[in-house]
Amino acid sequence: MKDYNEILKEIAVAIEPLRHVGHQADYIPALAKVNPDRFGMCITSTDGTVTAYGDMEERFSIQSVTKVFSLSMSLSLKGERLWSRVGKEPSGAAFNSLIQLELDRGIPRNPFINAGAIVLADVLMSELDDPLDDYLSFVREIAADKSIDYNREVASSEREKGYINAAIANMLKYYGNLDNDIEDVLRFYFLQCSIEMNCRQLSKAFLPFANRKTDFIFNDIRLTSSQVKRINAIMQTCGFYNDAGEYSYLVGLPGKSGVGGGIGAIYPGRYAVATWSPRLNEKGNSVMGMKALELLTTYTHESIF
Ligand code: GLN
Repeated sequence: MKDYNEILKEIAVAIEPLRHVGHQADYIPALAKVNPDRFGMCITSTDGTVTAYGDMEERFSIQSVTKVFSLSMSLSLKGERLWSRVGKEPSGAAFNSLIQLELDRGIPRNPFINAGAIVLADVLMSELDDPLDDYLSFVREIAADKSIDYNREVASSEREKGYINAAIANMLKYYGNLDNDIEDVLRFYFLQCSIEMNCRQLSKAFLPFANRKTDFIFNDIRLTSSQVKRINAIMQTCGFYNDAGEYSYLVGLPGKSGVGGGIGAIYPGRYAVATWSPRLNEKGNSVMGMKALELLTTYTHESIF
């Protein structure tokens, strides 16, 4: 077994020159207040060992990483019927692209771009008895941590300036791909994005995607091992938007990023890893986080490829 502790320390030294590279997301006003010069990382192995470094106890807004949880719930509830509402092809476009949604006539390219996740929020609103409560209890259950919560200030700050997401939701409604009220769906979507976790909690929450020997059953949400494999495939091909090719090339682990600067990724059978650093590249992915994961697979000689 590799000594992940030593490896994390080596990674931290190697990525230090990137500490001030990139910009944190400020189109969500509440996120502009976060200290951008943070870096944390945590590996949770399938044997339960936890190895962490840096600011791994500080909670951050998981933003689009939440889409892995909404996809898990939606796929469990709808099965293959889900794919009539959303595709599973890489988009090659920005995560909030409106033009692509119009060209695709209201069927989002995949569940991990904003349009796709807004459709998932709509699906969950129709399927769940109490969408807000059920979503949060699923996330708490998968992370095995009841202290995880929405940050309502972040959610309403995002709604205030959420012009593009509102346009996306309107276009989905126009094409008949949104059943619920636009404002209700947006409120739910922004709350999902506002969930806060630290690196330790996020790596724990991703562990079930790495550990296919244990059944995926959290509350009423069940996925077969084959469905988990497919969620991982979508993370690999779509988890980093128009950076997905670069991320695959450099890192080689299924993963999902968010504009809060977090990344969750997995090495099947071995570990789940989370990184957090708020400064983003121009595609909206954490600069230090991506580099740290690249070095993790390079130094350990472990990747899915
Ligand atoms: N809440 C963000 C948005 O909708 C999520 C985007 C992201 O993390 N890439 O813009």
